[in-house]
Amino acid sequence: MDPLSFNQPFLSGNELKYVAEAIANRDLSGNGRFTKASQVHLQNLTACLNVLLTPSCTAALEMTALLLELEHGDEVIMSSFNFVSAANAFALRGAKVVFVDVRPDTMNLDEELVEAAISNKTKAILATHYAGVACNLGKLKKLAEQYGLVLIEDAAHCIDAYYSGQHLGTIGDLGAISFHSTKNIHCGEGGALLINNDEFVERAALIQEKGTDRKQFIDGKVSKYSWQGLGSSFLLGELNAAFLLAQLECVQFVTEKKRQIFRRYQARLGEVKPIEVAKIPTACKSNGHIFYLKCKDRKERAELITFLKSNAISALFHYIPLHSSTGGKMFSRFAGRDRFTTSESERLLRLPSFVGLKSVDEVCAVIERFYS
Ligand SMILES: *Cc1c(COP(=O)(O)O)cnc(C)c1O
Repeated sequence: MDPLSFNQPFLSGNELKYVAEAIANRDLSGNGRFTKASQVHLQNLTACLNVLLTPSCTAALEMTALLLELEHGDEVIMSSFNFVSAANAFALRGAKVVFVDVRPDTMNLDEELVEAAISNKTKAILATHYAGVACNLGKLKKLAEQYGLVLIEDAAHCIDAYYSGQHLGTIGDLGAISFHSTKNIHCGEGGALLINNDEFVERAALIQEKGTDRKQFIDGKVSKYSWQGLGSSFLLGELNAAFLLAQLECVQFVTEKKRQIFRRYQARLGEVKPIEVAKIPTACKSNGHIFYLKCKDRKERAELITFLKSNAISALFHYIPLHSSTGGKMFSRFAGRDRFTTSESERLLRLPSFVGLKSVDEVCAVIERFYS
């Protein structure tokens, strides 16, 4: 049997055509025609008017950290069951990362624990929406308003995913999306920054253009451009933007396929004891980005991974909690108790999910056999 891979990056079929057009245009640096076209597509999909394409979601998160003008010792609250870039972006600015525990049902930060973690140094809350399922943004937005904090959404997983009908990444002040090849749609490496608070629009353009007012120069608003403040090289190249446009044109198709796979796994594996499958809160409309199950414990998970592997199926666990890592020890603290972050992450196992995956039922059958 051919081994079943965990992920196969989606291809729409138009990527090469658009990349060839970009080359023929001889317009290959950032903010060219394909960037504009992809931006319009994202604006229409998300209803966010200010979308910047970035080289990665990591870069978009670093832009949010620059926008916050953090000072040494300022604090940002997030969950520890998280991708390293969420913490790194702020640690790079000298900030302290403050972790709160996750909710076991979604693996997102527990909104009920955030208030106790707020100090007079807190500047922002970072809400990572794991697997395309939103954090409790209603509650987080209220807290951010009450304490004068910036709410940032790490919506890396969240293209075409929603909370109360609004696209994820558009509800906080700032949102970051990933187009890495492991995500639902992609351009190899790429990302987007969604700016929902007008206060940040102008400075985001400076930060993206190496700290210069080059955008204003291109728009004919100033006669020359020069260094205005901190920034870096945060533009996505046109070749990637061309590839991305071909993907964006198929985003609803991809979402539907991923949701179908999710529902099929959920229906079959939800019946298998002692497995737990995710329950999606009613306000959330997920994009099926990740299907995971939870085994009894770490040991059982290791055995299941081995069993799946011996049946030519690859399944992966996910983040090692950041607070327990070497970098985490340097740049973070954990506020309150780690009741679920470590123990739940040790049970979590992701199953193959990609457009074109035919063998969901076979994967389920192998898992059922493991537990029978
Ligand atoms: C993938 C991912 C990122 C980083 O995305 P890149 O585009 O690879 O930089 C950030 N946060 C989360 C939650 C992710 O899963």
